Amino acid sequence: MSDCLFCKIINGEIPSTLIYEDEKVIAFKDISPQSPVHFLVIPKEHIESADFIDKNKVPLIGHIFYVASKIAKEQGLECGYRVVNNCGNHGGQTVNHIHFHVLGGRQMMWPPG
Ligand code: IMP
Repeated sequence: MSDCLFCKIINGEIPSTLIYEDEKVIAFKDISPQSPVHFLVIPKEHIESADFIDKNKVPLIGHIFYVASKIAKEQGLECGYRVVNNCGNHGGQTVNHIHFHVLGGRQMMWPPG
């Protein structure tokens, strides 16, 4: 999608601190980190939100979780981490390209706001 911020990051039109890339996904540091380690894992394919995951996208979502845990280990999050997906307005989603936040490096609190 030409007007999507994260598609522009995927295409290299907008710079990012890339920490992982394969044929299906990229991961990069969040521009406004909410914890000592905060990165985003996103599919290269434009999917608007979790509401748009159809059946044939299920393996891709599994791959994202696999990559998230692989990078979390590389980033030293051996004490644990949180994976967050915000979906839609009430979910707090601000960028309409599905993404999974990985947060770690401090004790997470529950419930979230
Ligand atoms: P959301 O609120 O769940 O949609 O998360 C969007 C995230 O994208 C926020 O944590 C933002 O800080 C992050 N973000 C927005 N623009 C950029 C950017 O250009 N580079 C990296 N992260 C970004």
